[in-house]
Amino acid sequence: MSNITITHAPSGLVRTSVVRSERISPHVVRVTFGGGDLAAFEYQGFDQRFRLAVPAHDQARLDNLPEKFGVGGYLRYLTLPRGTRPVIRNYTVRAFRPDPVELDVDFVVHGTEGVAGPWAASVDPGVEVAFIDQGRGWKPVPADWLLLVADESGLPAVAGILRDLPGDATGHAFIELFDAADRQDLERPAGVELHWLERSPAEAPGSAALPALRALEFPSTSVYAFAVGESALATGARRHLVNDRGVAKANVTFCGYWRAGRAS
Ligand SMILES: Cc1cc2nc3c(=O)[nH]c(=O)nc-3n(C[C@H](O)[C@H](O)[C@H](O)COP(=O)(O)OP(=O)(O)OC[C@H]3O[C@@H](n4cnc5c(N)ncnc54)[C@H](O)[C@@H]3O)c2cc1C
Repeated sequence: MSNITITHAPSGLVRTSVVRSERISPHVVRVTFGGGDLAAFEYQGFDQRFRLAVPAHDQARLDNLPEKFGVGGYLRYLTLPRGTRPVIRNYTVRAFRPDPVELDVDFVVHGTEGVAGPWAASVDPGVEVAFIDQGRGWKPVPADWLLLVADESGLPAVAGILRDLPGDATGHAFIELFDAADRQDLERPAGVELHWLERSPAEAPGSAALPALRALEFPSTSVYAFAVGESALATGARRHLVNDRGVAKANVTFCGYWRAGRAS
């Protein structure tokens, strides 16, 4: 569930390749992409996301994908033979460097289930991928302060927002992880307090973030909030803000990045 609209990339499909990958913490692999059409990628910063066509099987092909993924393009994608069709998943730009042009994505390695997580854990340099669509969820409305809430899948989004906010921004950022060893050093404005929270791996996502949010003393209800991560965390944060704190719906951007027990 989300109130974010996906925009179609003006650049069309961007084909690029894996340059390298590195396990930067126990459950995160940073994959760096470069070459191909990457120079055409329109970098927007903050929580910029895109859909990644993952060549999950050896026979997967990227050469017959539609250039644009509007309704027609998506329907064409669905008619491609399943055996050769790449799998599509959403990811966030963790970093973008113009010279040489490179783009990093931090993949949560969440076990052997699914496609993108296991793929990133073992991908080799040279493997081709395609980026489809792109956009930002971060669309702040005027407010006195900011509130960011995420789990490990939303860490790259919150990291990008903290990095790109104006230096005088104020507020709170909550990042819930299931392993404290996955913390990262994050650049941020001095006025935004960063709270790292831990849930045990057996607990549901949101188990630490939602109580922390409920306990937070609000400077005012004039807040712009951004809540992303497992669906229950994102929707639970929004429900609390709107129902219990009286925050206007328009002041809350939220998006379920994944759903426990369900493939994307
Ligand atoms: C806008 C947006 C941006 C995103 N950015 C990132 C990002 O930068 N990095 C990132 O890692 N993820 C990100 N995600 C989440 C990512 O798209 C999902 O986690 C996706 O389900 C992973 O695909 P998969 O093929 O590995 O697993 P799927 O095939 O979708 O799911 C297989 C199983 O794994 C479980 N699962 C899926 N994701 C997770 C997880 N993170 N932790 C534990 N279990 C999981 C599912 O519940 C299911 O049981 C983003 C999602 C959105 C919508």
